[in-house]
Amino acid sequence: MKIVLLGPPGAGKGTQAQRLVDKHGIVQLSTGDMLRAAVAAETPIGLKAKAVMDSGALVSDEIVVGIVSDRIEEPDCAKGFILDGFPRTVAQAEALDKLLDEKGTSLDAVIEFVVDENILVTRMENRVKETLAAGGQVRKDDNPESFKTRLEAYRSQTAPLSKFYAASGRLKTVDGMQSIDQVAAALDGILAEVVAA
Ligand code: AMP
Repeated sequence: MKIVLLGPPGAGKGTQAQRLVDKHGIVQLSTGDMLRAAVAAETPIGLKAKAVMDSGALVSDEIVVGIVSDRIEEPDCAKGFILDGFPRTVAQAEALDKLLDEKGTSLDAVIEFVVDENILVTRMENRVKETLAAGGQVRKDDNPESFKTRLEAYRSQTAPLSKFYAASGRLKTVDGMQSIDQVAAALDGILAEVVAA
């Protein structure tokens, strides 16, 4: 199963992706995680991406598409994958369609988490508090200023993806304001339909 999860930062995509990984035995591909790993390892890509990521803006399509293209060739992706945080622009979505088409395959589902943006800042602040309480390290872009830039990038560059996928009849939505269990149940319902189709 190849799934794309769409939604603004803090919408709950990562939490649900992790659950789907456990349930379906497919891998979660988070471009944010991959880029953070590249930054930590100080690879050439990481060095290029660091300042952009810290500010909350988007890394170039070229870099991100390159990372995803290499990653989906890995053997653990053979059973499928959940893309979390990719695509983030229409150009990335077009590149993804092309990559999959070249492999003779395509996406099974694109699911957008619909949320009230007013609660996202609170969710980010809670995430910071919980991480600190657990002795973890807080993401550099989890601060009010970068978060605002991330939301703006979402609105201007990523939100148009809903139309892109709706135009080809591929977009499904879930109400991301529900509890984690309710969102999980809604996702399971959508994926059961996809499998049955
Ligand atoms: P995330 O963990 O998905 O919130 O991503 C953290 C940051 O990594 C973003 O604010 C961007 O700077 C960068 N990033 C992650 N995924 C992408 C993508 N698909 N396109 C461009 N930049 C990305």
